[in-house]
Amino acid sequence: TIALRLDQVERHYVQGESRLTILDRADMRIDAGEMVALVAPSGAGKSTLLHIAGLLEKPDAGDVVINGASCGALDDSGRTDMRRNTIGFVYQFHHLLPEFSALENVMLPQMIRGLTHKVAAERARELLDYMRLGPRVRHRPSELSGGEQQRVAIARAVANNPYVLLADEPTGNLDPTTSSYVFDAMTALVRQSGVAALIATHNHDLARRMDRAVTLRDGKIVDHIVA
Ligand code: ADP
Ligand code: ADP
Repeated sequence: TIALRLDQVERHYVQGESRLTILDRADMRIDAGEMVALVAPSGAGKSTLLHIAGLLEKPDAGDVVINGASCGALDDSGRTDMRRNTIGFVYQFHHLLPEFSALENVMLPQMIRGLTHKVAAERARELLDYMRLGPRVRHRPSELSGGEQQRVAIARAVANNPYVLLADEPTGNLDPTTSSYVFDAMTALVRQSGVAALIATHNHDLARRMDRAVTLRDGKIVDHIVA
């Protein structure tokens, strides 16, 4: 199954007199359970691509298709619903809510979606156990290490069983050993859940451990061999 598809996506920015083309009829396909590294220098358009794929930003033309559902014709509220129900995000900084425990942070997106407290708590506990955070579920973010915080953020991102997981430098703030450990935990979760993951990273070691890598070239999303 193709979980995430970009069809002929265009995006350009107008900067004063000039027009900057980031995406020029770009195509991309990511299968369920596949992990794809997005490797490109700063300014190449990684954030733009992740925002468009995540339905946070509308392309100037073209379509984003999530698990077969075209998003091009959705209005703002339709896009928000689609995003909440089908996409998970992980950022370089965890963005956990400081006043809530790890468990509550993972419960929250489920409760926003209308699940009961009981169901959300069970799912959150299961995910945090899977991320080896069982003994930490009552801790607040400030009481967790950087690697633990990121593992909570990853658990939260998949709490609603998204089809697509988008990550922007998810281990960019961690030391190499922690980074590798968090990446392995994320990989296990991707394989187990069958989510399609697109992960922007400057870390070539991690990029090589994914199924394949892509980069942005002349507005296209092209296969990339990580040196
Ligand atoms: P990356 O995440 O790879 O660093 P971005 O997607 O943030 O790249 O940006 C790609 C290019 O588009 C950069 O040159 C940036 O300056 C430009 N850009 C990004 N957002 C805007 C905007 N809202 N208006 C004008 N230019 C923008
Ligand atoms: P919520 O369902 O919590 O109200 P939204 O529907 O606004 O959140 O957004 C869904 C996801 O997208 C959340 O994980 C949120 O952190 C992320 N998000 C929302 N707006 C932006 C933005 N402008 N840039 C990056 N991420 C965003």
